[in-house]
Amino acid sequence: MRLVPERALTPEGWRRDVAIAVTDGRIAHVGVAQPRQPGDVMLPGRALLPGTVNAHCHTFQSLLRGLGDDLDFAGWRDRVLYPFSERLDRDGIALGAAFAFAEMLRHGVTTCVDFFYLNDASNDNAEAVIAAARAVGIRLVLARTMYDWEGAPKRYRESPADAARRVRELIAAHRHDATVDIHAAPHSPHGASATMIQAGADVAQTERVPLHIHVAEGRYEGERTRREHGTTPVRYLDRLGALGPRTIAVHAVWLDDEEIALMGARGAALAYCPSSNMFLGDGVTRLPELRRAGVRAGLGTDGGCTNNRLSIFEEMRMASLLQRVRLLDGGALPATEVFGLGTEGGAAILELDAGRIEAGRLADLVAVDLGHASLHPPTNLLANVVFAMSPQAVSDVWVHGERVVESGRLTRVSEGELLARVAALTRDWRL
Ligand SMILES: [Zn+2]
Repeated sequence: MRLVPERALTPEGWRRDVAIAVTDGRIAHVGVAQPRQPGDVMLPGRALLPGTVNAHCHTFQSLLRGLGDDLDFAGWRDRVLYPFSERLDRDGIALGAAFAFAEMLRHGVTTCVDFFYLNDASNDNAEAVIAAARAVGIRLVLARTMYDWEGAPKRYRESPADAARRVRELIAAHRHDATVDIHAAPHSPHGASATMIQAGADVAQTERVPLHIHVAEGRYEGERTRREHGTTPVRYLDRLGALGPRTIAVHAVWLDDEEIALMGARGAALAYCPSSNMFLGDGVTRLPELRRAGVRAGLGTDGGCTNNRLSIFEEMRMASLLQRVRLLDGGALPATEVFGLGTEGGAAILELDAGRIEAGRLADLVAVDLGHASLHPPTNLLANVVFAMSPQAVSDVWVHGERVVESGRLTRVSEGELLARVAALTRDWRL
């Protein structure tokens, strides 16, 4: 199959009269469109972009959207997250995942990290999320959470030994899966004990997978880590042997200068979630400083009830605007830079060959409608995609070479049916 858009964003810049040949889920060749070949998929009036990568999300949280939007983090966690997540059985978890995946695909997200912690001391719920991803058609990185803080609901919690064994079993079960990867994810310095974090680091090391962990999201965490462990969160992870090239630190808002340098020196990466940080009033991650220190980064939405949108194009815009207002510099984080973070940057930290339209990469692609008003005037298309584009301009999406959104409609599942099921499940939910 060849895709023939009006133009495509390649590493060399925008190209016209281009054809992207796709075989076995990968881009086989990027060449000229002429002469036409039988089976060419013509995309007149469309520009083709690499698909976006959501480096951090909690899919079931989409079902909680709207419930605790004006609460602070502790209020949201204790009155919304904990009690309402207890209401979800396996079908509810799978429905929440499918709902979130569907919204993400419609917004041009082709890979989603689901940092998943409703484990019920097994991998069965995680498998239900994996099945939902396959049904909707999105590429999934399931960051299988390891959680043992006794203040959290029982269904989140496991012993370090059980959690490590189950993460290894899930990795083994999906090692040859073309569209699913399993990573290790001790929850955070406040949700996972030192033993649990070390168990996660050991799994990541021996199974050669990334290690996701929330760190220094709110100011309270630094105070608590200092009180309980006598040091700051990033130094604490380093002391546990959990800060290295496989580490993906989520948020990393409250770091001092030495911690920024330490993350760079250890080769750690960042999943940056600007909308979530703003929504919860957490603060502003010092992204340019982290990048200058050598920290690789991708963008995440975080859960659907702490954002409350699920679009990486949106996070590109927010990342740039938030840093501009912090630095009082309208030139900070230009469009090309944040676009890179939301595509190849995210793919790279997840160790995926995605995020660029070039031969050998995964065929995860997004087409946008050049006729949409939000992309006009067409003087600088990439800047418009980042700063102006409406989600309605996303017309088509391919994941692993399969068209999963066509002319704004999901091809594998009925969005109407999904929404009806979500409405039925949440009908009586009130704070
Ligand atoms: Zn999170």
